Amino acid sequence: MAWAKRPAACREASADYTRRAPRLDILIAKPSRGGKVRAHSFSEFSAVFADLSLDQRLLKAVDKMGFESPTPVQQQAIPLALQGRDLLVNAATGSGKTAAFLLPILQSLISKKGERTGTRALVLVPTRELARQIGKECEKLGSYCGLKVGVITGGQEFKVQRALLRRDPEILIATPGRTLELVKEGSTLFSNLEHLVLDEADRLFEMGFSEDVLAIIATCNEARQTMLLSATLPAGVRRLLQVLNAPVRVQINSAREQHESIRQQYILADDDKHKEKLLLWLLEHETFERALVFCNTRDQATHLCGVMRYRDQRAGYLHGEVKQDVRNATITAFREGKLKVLVASDLASRGLDVKGIDLVINFDMARKGDDYVHRIGRTGRAGEEGLAVALIGPQEWNLKASIERYLNVQLESRKIKELPGTYKGPKKLKASGKAATTAKRKKPEAGKSKPRPKSKSGSKPAPGGQPA
Ligand code: AMP
Repeated sequence: MAWAKRPAACREASADYTRRAPRLDILIAKPSRGGKVRAHSFSEFSAVFADLSLDQRLLKAVDKMGFESPTPVQQQAIPLALQGRDLLVNAATGSGKTAAFLLPILQSLISKKGERTGTRALVLVPTRELARQIGKECEKLGSYCGLKVGVITGGQEFKVQRALLRRDPEILIATPGRTLELVKEGSTLFSNLEHLVLDEADRLFEMGFSEDVLAIIATCNEARQTMLLSATLPAGVRRLLQVLNAPVRVQINSAREQHESIRQQYILADDDKHKEKLLLWLLEHETFERALVFCNTRDQATHLCGVMRYRDQRAGYLHGEVKQDVRNATITAFREGKLKVLVASDLASRGLDVKGIDLVINFDMARKGDDYVHRIGRTGRAGEEGLAVALIGPQEWNLKASIERYLNVQLESRKIKELPGTYKGPKKLKASGKAATTAKRKKPEAGKSKPRPKSKSGSKPAPGGQPA
């Protein structure tokens, strides 16, 4: 299947989006199920970077980074961005989306002279890690271009950031909160801005940054190019679409689609103690380079890390309370292979782009389908194969069923015969795959108190509500 030959044939309109943004063209590049780049699929792409009208300096950098062929999102987005169009890109993390917006921006910045002062390109991202990663990728891609790249995030000293801004970097990668503070005090200026990127817009919205983002945009040059990237398009992100001018939508994959390079399994567990045993068994028996373990609370993350270290696993943890320098050191140790297992919460793992994560274990099931997609998307990145295993307790069955239905996937059942449990899943299932409740409530008789409903294993509602 040749990705490069499809786009013209796939051009279509979406009633939903045309209503909100009347001049939105849609380009759907989705010839196969699942937008992730499969292990063998880079070589399948007929296009090469040299076809993309990029400067030799950029081609040299791409070559040095070992990128052989552009990924689907790069093939589709780069030519449109080079034409100066505003873009709405639906591409998940791991699709190569960062280079898809950085390469055309770098191309534009080196091919024309900018104004003497002020930022020329601004990339707004939800988390510090993501800002740092994009900063690094930008430095690598632009290593022969002689452009200055600055990264601005919270948790750093203002005076250091003011000094950085005085050096007038052409490209700024930043988180919204701190950027707005610096804009308000006049340390930075976006009136000459040529390119604006809102990366992981769904996360920007979820983390409550929409107002800050809109306030920053209000100070930006109106004659700019804007690119908005988001794995999912919840209602809140649609509000941000108003900042796009007649955008073209590039849809590489939707978060609901299956990740073809990732094997998705579940193992039934009786309780947390049983889950701990299953977790250790998997870490001791699976062959993997790096593993990510997800849980839903900070205490659980630190506790599990302790349990794993006790069993000689090289484990670390990340959660919201971990200080920035410790967090950086942990991620570096994980990237360098000094740590093999990282326990994390959803928030703490945002923007984590570490190569060689080939095992993701959901100790606690994700609370929403989109979170599940983001979690398992940490593996199988850029062509690698991955395994995702969810440990499902009695109260998580319905959550698993909802996520499967939402994503239109069927997790493969797996049993560890050395660690059998008593929980075998619900006895009866509804058509939705959820547990069929068999206990019937008696109608309370007049004047008598309400009888307590019988609680049956596997029939409780899922914690945290149903996935969106
Ligand atoms: P992203 O989706 O931007 O987070 O990219 C995921 C990973 O894929 C990053 O480590 C990139 O450096 C890498 N990557 C991006 N484009 C390519 C490409 N064309 N070939 C191989 N790897 C790539």
